[in-house]
Amino acid sequence: MKGVAILGATGSIGASALAVLEQHPERFRAVALTAHRSVDALRALVARHRPALAVVSDAEVPAESGGGTRWAGGRQALIDAATHPDADIVVNALVGAAGLEPTLAALEAGKRVALANKESLVCGGPLVLQAAERGGGELIPVDSEHSAIFQCLAGSRASDVRRLIITASGGPFREMPPELLAGVTPADALRHPTWDMGAKITIDSATLANKALEVIEAHFLFGVPYERIEAVVHPQSIIHSMVEMVDGSVLAQMGFPTMELPVLYALAYPERLPYDCRRFDPVAAGTLTFEPVRADRFPAFALGVRAGRAGGTMPAVFNAANEVAVAEFLAGRVPFGGIGDSIADALDRWTGGPASTLDDVREADAWARRAAHTYLTRLAPCC
Ligand code: NAD
Ligand code: MG
Repeated sequence: MKGVAILGATGSIGASALAVLEQHPERFRAVALTAHRSVDALRALVARHRPALAVVSDAEVPAESGGGTRWAGGRQALIDAATHPDADIVVNALVGAAGLEPTLAALEAGKRVALANKESLVCGGPLVLQAAERGGGELIPVDSEHSAIFQCLAGSRASDVRRLIITASGGPFREMPPELLAGVTPADALRHPTWDMGAKITIDSATLANKALEVIEAHFLFGVPYERIEAVVHPQSIIHSMVEMVDGSVLAQMGFPTMELPVLYALAYPERLPYDCRRFDPVAAGTLTFEPVRADRFPAFALGVRAGRAGGTMPAVFNAANEVAVAEFLAGRVPFGGIGDSIADALDRWTGGPASTLDDVREADAWARRAAHTYLTRLAPCC
């Protein structure tokens, strides 16, 4: 029986993780669950899963007792959940750069981290790898593309691999004439064609910033240089990613799009457990198609890859500027195009530097948040 801490249990990936636990109660039990502000949603999960620890990271701790659950609040309590002595596996389903410190703490404590929070690797890739090395922790991807690549790489050596090919759905605006893109609303952008996800990643999928974050994530996870990582649009979201080997053979991992499967794989690895979910039917799926990423229409993609290649604290600046711009767009204060523009402004003005310590990353993150706010305040009001 493995103890599982789920950071961000009230979110979309949190729900997938809890669904996996419910199908395999003989293998996994929840030992810690966290939420940021949604106390009522967390209370319902606690009643059902009875973890030893329940954490609200930014809300008043409810005066609960009974059922064997201790309630705690604040950032330190989140770290306590990530390092809980009964947790063998930590599912990091937090959103944004706030996920970095819990990832570092869990890896330092020797946990397996089932990582959905790609921002951990984007902001602090070198720190995350060092923490795993120092603490003996293990990083298993949950992001569907990286889970696919991880599965395709099984049994191969680094020298066998020529190229990683990350697939992208293309988001809701893939076919929209460029002149209409400026007028899209948050409601339009939240209508994702193939995946049901939290608001931030759904907007990132509409701007394709998500694909840039995933290129950086893949670079750190698999140690492959940027020139050998490509993205391709695959609107059906059936092939979750591919690996081209040096002999020209291409391995792909496929399946009906559900995040429960990559979560299950990360929890059970190296085993595969049976799972009851919608099955893939190749005949019903029909034609699978591929298109290039339209970097001209989705500037956030090229900006993110540029930040990744620059390295150091540049990816943290890309991420923080994007987080601020997405929040402002969702609040209806800036236009869709303001997201790419404010990221470009931050990247152009940040002088860079190494991401050798957590303080380096924090400083770059804080600077980029201020820069994006300043830029976007000048842009607003838009609508
Ligand atoms: P979500 O918004 O649905 O859930 C986020 C969770 O984190 C919630 O429980 C929320 O209470 C908590 N949270 C939010 N801000 C926090 C903060 N500052 N500190 C602590 N807790 C905080 O997000 P999601 O869609 O589940 O995505 C989670 C992560 O997984 C993201 O990094 C995302 O990019 C990645 N991911 C998501 C999907 C998906 O299908 N949803 C797929 C691949 C990767
Ligand atoms: Mg993904």
